[in-house]
Amino acid sequence: MTRNIPEDAADRRAVRPVICYPNETLPDPDLPGLQTLRLTARKSGECLVPPREARCFHVPAGHFFRITSVEGPQVGDLNLWSAADPRERFYSGKTRALHGTHLTRGDRMWSSFPHLRPMATVTEDTLEWYGIDEFGGSVHDVIGTRCDPYTHRLLSGQDYHHCCHSNLVNALMADLNLSRDEAEPLVHDVLNVFMCTGFTRDTGQYFMKTSPVRPGDYLEFYAEIDLIGGLSACPGGDCGSEHSSDAAACYPLLVEIFAPLGPTVREQPRSSSYSWP
Ligand SMILES: [Zn+2]
Repeated sequence: MTRNIPEDAADRRAVRPVICYPNETLPDPDLPGLQTLRLTARKSGECLVPPREARCFHVPAGHFFRITSVEGPQVGDLNLWSAADPRERFYSGKTRALHGTHLTRGDRMWSSFPHLRPMATVTEDTLEWYGIDEFGGSVHDVIGTRCDPYTHRLLSGQDYHHCCHSNLVNALMADLNLSRDEAEPLVHDVLNVFMCTGFTRDTGQYFMKTSPVRPGDYLEFYAEIDLIGGLSACPGGDCGSEHSSDAAACYPLLVEIFAPLGPTVREQPRSSSYSWP
């Protein structure tokens, strides 16, 4: 039973919210410019991520990369690192604070402190039509973390070895020739590509529901800096029931890289100019 409800509780709850981070002053991603550049781009490489595994891929600054659902509905957990220094990595929490709980066209993936610069800009999203459903769910979230063997052990007492966290660690170890001790701290909270998630209105709990993704749907990005991407084809498949098990039907995800013809004139974003006193 809830205790100590003050007499003016309704008044206090009725106070209107204010946006924490008004984002009108963020640098303009210049989507029309990127779309024009994209018209000149030609495919330069691809990588097929097998179900319940992860792969790393490299994208030079000024190139585009596309993640496509193939064969069947499948959710992907995406990590990004700066190729120059993988300690600079995607910062899911601040990206959420700046753009909201789910990303779509025009939103950026921001990097960790002290850099805080755009690593990638979302240039196409075939699931943009989904919007926010009646449950408060939407697609491509930055509110989840990644399925991992530690939480799974905590909640179920079982060990499962193909969680997205484990897959991303293994992929980064292979790509950069690192030990597990070196690679694991570099793996971070993800962009949940194609995953449909939200928070329940009554209990505020993180929920997932069957992804609306269909084969042929894709999310495309412009690489603002030289990137290493890591993508795990989540063992949850379309995440309609459970993850961290071999129960769900899982499918591969296709990553394609597109190189623009001619030199890219767009400047790479610099790290934050903030200086400590
Ligand atoms: Zn997962």
